[in-house]
Amino acid sequence: MSNYNPYDNVVSTIKNAGQMLGMKESEYITFMYPERELKVNFPVRMDDGSVQVIEGFRIQHSSDRGPCKGGIRFHPDVNDDEVRALAAWMTFKCAVVGIPYGGAKGGVKIDPTKYSRAELERITRRYTSAILPLIGPEKDIPAPDVNTNAEVMGWIMDTYSMMKGYSVPGVVTGKPIDIGGSLGRGEATGRGVMITLRECLKRLNKDPKGITVAVQGMGNVGSVSAKLISSELGAKIVAVSDVSGGIYNPDGLDIPGILAHLATRGNLLDTYNAPAGTKRISNAEVLTCDVDVLVPAALENQITAENAADIKASLIVEAANGPTTVEADKILEEKGVFLAPDILANAGGVVVSYFEWVQNLQSLVWDEEEVNKTLNRIMVRAIDDVFRLHEDKKVTLRTSAYCVGLEKLVKAKTLRGIFP
Ligand code: NAD
Repeated sequence: MSNYNPYDNVVSTIKNAGQMLGMKESEYITFMYPERELKVNFPVRMDDGSVQVIEGFRIQHSSDRGPCKGGIRFHPDVNDDEVRALAAWMTFKCAVVGIPYGGAKGGVKIDPTKYSRAELERITRRYTSAILPLIGPEKDIPAPDVNTNAEVMGWIMDTYSMMKGYSVPGVVTGKPIDIGGSLGRGEATGRGVMITLRECLKRLNKDPKGITVAVQGMGNVGSVSAKLISSELGAKIVAVSDVSGGIYNPDGLDIPGILAHLATRGNLLDTYNAPAGTKRISNAEVLTCDVDVLVPAALENQITAENAADIKASLIVEAANGPTTVEADKILEEKGVFLAPDILANAGGVVVSYFEWVQNLQSLVWDEEEVNKTLNRIMVRAIDDVFRLHEDKKVTLRTSAYCVGLEKLVKAKTLRGIFP
């Protein structure tokens, strides 16, 4: 899969949705291209006095429905096509859930485990200053993604504010609560995954209490998804994994115990002292183990033509962005696997990011109950919209989610017209 290009995935899905809606290509062609791209190379001084030049990106896919919105990823595999795809997914995600944003994404090509905290802070601040012409509360608002967190968002907010000369909390979301972060944002993406699973099970007439679940990836999204799927739905999490490998127990894993272990900075599952009855499995095995529900919550390109036929889950809820390739999608559809797509299932994060931005712009603070209640309302409405089109047009949930998003995007483009 070395020639896998996630942006090709995006373009093919957009075309598919456009054709399904009976649109002419001229109506949706704009969304097949990113609106603006910035690549930066910036020097950073390391703790030992040496200098490294680091590569980064910020790509804005569309601002047709509002300011661009999307996370920043720190990962050694970051590249332009990946960031482009992630930016486009943000455009569609915001449209599907009906929040007034376009889509963007950022990436810094580093392995964060190789840097000290002080070096990571300098990298973040210098990257922020390099992408400064693009970002701002009315233009483009970053948020956390793989290997970035509230602390990193705090550094971005401070750097931007220092350059402006006054405090600008609305430039970034997913910040620490004490500097303008929203209650509920840390758990929002995982909560949205849990809501999506709950609503899919309702439509499949399945009781969550009897089902078994595997979660790939135990970072922000995977760990909260695992926690809420077990604590709020009563389902049994039997397999989880992270970059160090996976664990499996057919009687169910001790999720609070695993989360307590992972909460210690730098701890991975391979150092978890698993109780008897739990066996170590590979990441590949987590994807294909015998479960009712699979939640990929790590990176893109995990479910491919090579392993799709071996997947035993009958329901997949895509917590990660782009975990399934186009080829794998077809195999899963033929097998009758029900798949809740990323642009719907993981939209909880950007929905609460929107609440955070609104609170920042209005200098207001919502309580957590209000955040979670409003998130639930928005997610359920979007899930209903996607299911309605899925049933009307007899298409997969992915195609139907893209159709829901594309209709709103094309409408915005038509209303705005083409400048000049
Ligand atoms: P994170 O950095 O907190 O966690 C990533 C997890 O994946 C870690 O547990 C890591 O060990 C694991 N991992 C990495 N490589 C792996 C591999 N090859 N096999 C198995 N596990 C592996 O990142 P996150 O914020 O939880 O993001 C996870 C996914 O969710 C990404 O696709 C991201 O784009 C998407 N997402 C995140 C948010 C958010 O709010 N953070 C919102 C929407 C979507």
